[in-house]
Amino acid sequence: MAIKFCRKCGCMMLPEKNQDKVVWICRKCGRKEKGDNTNVLITSKEKVHRVAIPVVDIEKEKDKLSMIDLECHKCKNVGVMWWLQQTRAGDEPATRFYKCIKCGFTWRESS
Ligand SMILES: [Zn+2]
Ligand SMILES: [Zn+2]
Repeated sequence: MAIKFCRKCGCMMLPEKNQDKVVWICRKCGRKEKGDNTNVLITSKEKVHRVAIPVVDIEKEKDKLSMIDLECHKCKNVGVMWWLQQTRAGDEPATRFYKCIKCGFTWRESS
């Protein structure tokens, strides 16, 4: 498994499969980078799950959450926190949630 480090803050970036492309996302600052090494392409959902960012308890780990330049679905403010949360059985992939830092609106990834 390849490892990539964020050019901005030096933190470890984690790969995420987006359709047929891999996008690397910095855990700390949310910086995104296109995957350039197709040899390490994640080929199955299982693998994506294995390298996924650990599920966090948002109340306990608020300050560890990643920021991302995404538009709030409600107030259009750019800048939301995101995290993964297990919604049902533990063997199912976690769902990604977003929370606007301005108005607090929370929504889940629709995919
Ligand atoms: Zn970073
Ligand atoms: Zn908002």
